[in-house]
Amino acid sequence: MAFRLYNTMSSQVEEFHPLRNREVRMYACGPTVYDYGHIGNFRTFIAVDMLQRFLRQSGYTVRYVMNITDVDDKIIRNAARDGVSVQQYTAKYEKAFLEDSAMIGIEQPTLVRATEHIAQMADFVAKLVKRGIAYRTDDGSYYFRIASFPRYGRLSKKDFGGMLDGARVDVDEYDKDSARDFALWKAPKPGEASWETSIGPGRPGWHLECSVMSMAELGESFDVHAGGEDLIFPHHENEIAQSESFTGKPFAHFWFHVRFLLVEGEKMSKSLGNFYTLRDLVLKGHKPSSIRYLLTSVPYRNQLNFTFDGLKQAAVSVERLRNFRQRLAAGSFPSGSCLEMQSLAAETVDRMKSALDDDLNTAQAHAALFEMVRRANAAFDANGIKQDDVPLLLAALEKFDEIFAVLKGNDVPQMKQVSDWASTEGRKKDISLELREAVQSGQLSDADIEKKIAEMVAARNGRNFKFSDALRAELTAAGIVIENTKDGVRWRRK
Ligand code: AMP
Ligand code: ZN
Repeated sequence: MAFRLYNTMSSQVEEFHPLRNREVRMYACGPTVYDYGHIGNFRTFIAVDMLQRFLRQSGYTVRYVMNITDVDDKIIRNAARDGVSVQQYTAKYEKAFLEDSAMIGIEQPTLVRATEHIAQMADFVAKLVKRGIAYRTDDGSYYFRIASFPRYGRLSKKDFGGMLDGARVDVDEYDKDSARDFALWKAPKPGEASWETSIGPGRPGWHLECSVMSMAELGESFDVHAGGEDLIFPHHENEIAQSESFTGKPFAHFWFHVRFLLVEGEKMSKSLGNFYTLRDLVLKGHKPSSIRYLLTSVPYRNQLNFTFDGLKQAAVSVERLRNFRQRLAAGSFPSGSCLEMQSLAAETVDRMKSALDDDLNTAQAHAALFEMVRRANAAFDANGIKQDDVPLLLAALEKFDEIFAVLKGNDVPQMKQVSDWASTEGRKKDISLELREAVQSGQLSDADIEKKIAEMVAARNGRNFKFSDALRAELTAAGIVIENTKDGVRWRRK
C-alpha cells in the first residue's frame, strides 16, 4: 500500500507520490536562533525527522533542507540590546540547536542560512516590483501586494473577502485575521543590522527568506514543506503568495504541519512556569531517549500532552526494549527455527509499515512492536525461541529504531556533554542529583554494559564462575544493578 499523508492544502489524507520519480524534496522551516530550543520545537523537528527517515526506509531518496533563521525582528532586537553583531548573537544558539538535535537523534538535514542568501532575496524582490506585485514605500521598505494574488488564504482556509487594499503590516508575525500587504524587505533602522543590496539597504522579511532558500535548494516546485501548525498563517500563506507569484508554478505539493505540544495540559509559556528547553529536562536527569520516545509516541496531528509521569513511563518503555534486545543478544538458544516466532517477526514488520503508511501513525507502530516484545518474552520463558528466530526478531526491532531512534544513542555521554555545558554556562546549580548520578555511573555506555553482561552470561554458561563473578563485580562497582529474573538478566543504572 502506498504511503498516505495528510496535506493541509487539501485538508485530506492523500496518496503520496513525489513529483520526480523516487526522489523526495522536502523543506522544513527551521529554528529562529535567538534562544535555546524548547520541547515544542523538538516535537516538530522530530516529527519531520521521522517523516524523512520513513521515506528513506520506504525506498525513496530524500533531499531534506532546513533553514536557520538567523535574521529576524527578535534577533535584531536582542543583538542590538546586547551590543553584539547579529552573527555573534546567533552563532551560539545555532551551535546549541545542532548539539541538541544530535542529542535527541535528529539526522542533520542540509542547512541553509538566511544571511547567506541576502543578494538572491533582493533580486527576488526586484523581480516582483517589476511585475507590479511588490511596491516600495518612501522609507525604502518593500511590500507584497496581497490583492495581486487571488488565491491568498487557500492554505489557511481564511476568507479575506473584505481585505483592505494597500493596508500594510511590517512585523513578521501578526494578527491571525488580518490580510495586509506584508513586508518583503525592511528599510534599515538606526542601530540595526542591514545589508547593501541591488534594491537598496535593508534586510529581508522572514517569509521571503524561506521562499528564496527553499526554491534555491529544491527547485520551483517540490514535494513537502513542513513546520509547526502556527506557521500555516501568515508564514506559509505568505511563502505561497510570494513563490507562486514569482514562478507562476505550484510551490510545495504537500503541506505537513505538526500540532502544538501542550505541557501538563496547558499551552507552554514562560509565565505559566511550564516552559522547558530540551536542556532543562536533561539537566533534571531525564534521558534524551526517554524524551524522544515520548515525543514520538503520539501521531503528529494528535494532541500530545507532555507530562513528567509520561516521561517516566517513556523511560521504562525504552528500558524494556533495551532489555529485550539484551536478552536476545546474550541468550543461548537451541538450533533451528520456530514458525510462530518467524511469523511474529514478519507480521510485526508489516504492521509497523502499515501503521506508518497511514499518515505516520506512530502510536500503532509502537503498539505493534510492544506486542511482539510481549509475545517473544513469553516464548523465551517457555523456551520457545530458537537460534534462527533471533536475527529476525532483532531485525524487527532495528526497523523500528531506524525510525524512532531511541535505542541507538548512548544517553550517558550525551548527558555528560550537557553537564559540561551547564558548568560553562553557569547553570551548574541546575544540575540535578539524577544527572550527576547518571553521569558518574555512566563511565560505561549502554553498549559497554550490554557487552559485559553478554560476556558474563557466556562465562557463566561455560561454568567459568570466577570470570563471571569478576565481571559482575565490575558492573556493580560502576553503579549497574543486575538482576537475574526468570526472564534472564536485566540491568538498570542505580
Ligand atoms: P521557532 O524557532 O519559533 O521559529 O520555531 C521552530 C519550529 O517549532 C516551528 O516549526 C514552530 O512551528 C515549531 N513550534 C513552536 N512551538 C511549538 C509547540 N509548542 N509545539 C510544536 N511545535 C512548535
Ligand atoms: Zn519558513
